[in-house]
Amino acid sequence: MQVTHDAPLAPLTTFRLGGPAQRLITARTDDEVVAAVREADRAGTPLLIIGGGSNLVIGDKGFDGTALRVATSGFVLDGTRLELAAGEVWTDAVARTVEAGLAGVECLAGIPGSAGATPIQNVGAYGQEVATTLTEVVAYDRRAEETVTLTGADCAFAYRHSRFKADPDRFVVLRVRFELEDAGGMSAPIRYAETARALGVEPGDRVPVAAAREAVLDLRAGKGMVLDPDDHDTWSAGSFFTNPILDDAEYAAFLDRVRDRLGPDTAPPAYPAGEGRTKTSAAWLIDKAGFTKGYGTGPARISTKHTLALTNRGDATTEDLLALAREVVAGVRDAFGVTLVNEPVTVGVSL
Ligand SMILES: Cc1cc2nc3c(=O)[nH]c(=O)nc-3n(C[C@H](O)[C@H](O)[C@H](O)COP(=O)(O)OP(=O)(O)OC[C@H]3O[C@@H](n4cnc5c(N)ncnc54)[C@H](O)[C@@H]3O)c2cc1C
Repeated sequence: MQVTHDAPLAPLTTFRLGGPAQRLITARTDDEVVAAVREADRAGTPLLIIGGGSNLVIGDKGFDGTALRVATSGFVLDGTRLELAAGEVWTDAVARTVEAGLAGVECLAGIPGSAGATPIQNVGAYGQEVATTLTEVVAYDRRAEETVTLTGADCAFAYRHSRFKADPDRFVVLRVRFELEDAGGMSAPIRYAETARALGVEPGDRVPVAAAREAVLDLRAGKGMVLDPDDHDTWSAGSFFTNPILDDAEYAAFLDRVRDRLGPDTAPPAYPAGEGRTKTSAAWLIDKAGFTKGYGTGPARISTKHTLALTNRGDATTEDLLALAREVVAGVRDAFGVTLVNEPVTVGVSL
């Protein structure tokens, strides 16, 4: 177990933002993770779990407690069953399942961060989300002070949400298990229209699993959604806001606002999101409220490749980023009456 004091956290995040932690522990085995968590909890010390730091906005003042970097390793593929240690790099694990010809997570290629964080917000992209293939999470339950195994149903997955996100101080994920599909080297049915178009197939078709992964990586790279240290458009947390889900009354009011502002024939993106609920697109709202790609003049700006990514152009502070995020939230609310909610987890700050 490696322990450092007054440790900078910015280099551990993809935003490269945030002040130091009083103490930083890097744990390389499950036992080390559990020991570090137990020790902090028994001492009453605030604890911040860090995987790849790709969904974290840490305040400029840093973290007055123990930051625990989960750097465990373990990749076990047994037939179609996959078990990953929390510290495994997610996108590398996806690549290995694709090399093995298995389907189920190929469209989640290129998502930065650790395997252990994938259940936290039920990561998803291009028509797949981990909720579909994840079978079990082995976690340390800080309340019961024991290691537990949760089924997929126990995780209460929803769109970019889970039991872990709802109750963030309870579980530390140690291992994640998946059931993949052996479709003879073919992908899962391609669900997302943009991916189907890129592959020249119809939604619902299957393609060679490696082709699906490549297509997704190409689409992502074009939007600055694959990490590249030389490209400031990727100094981000990916999508900064979740897509709003509106009930029928909210959606009707929203539609009125859209048509008042943009003309009676305007049809905003709308997807069914369960009984009496409609999901619309945060990127569309941001763009139509006047915050287009590259928006901003300061050190934090909207990505030049994707309206939904707020980025650090190199010398931003967390306050710069939050000022931009607040400006976008206020602008979208004024224009359309919808309040955007941040997707990344904030530490010591809020929008
Ligand atoms: C360029 C870019 C593109 C992205 N694209 C997508 C996308 O397409 N889809 C998507 O869903 N997300 C996307 N993201 C967001 C991010 O990559 C995911 O949310 C990812 O799962 C975060 O993993 P991480 O290890 O970096 O988590 P961190 O940022 O380190 O942590 C995020 C949260 O999870 C908690 N956490 C981390 N590890 C554990 C653990 N072992 N146990 C308990 N809690 C833990 C942390 O405490 C924190 O609350 C993108 C981010 C970037 C930078």
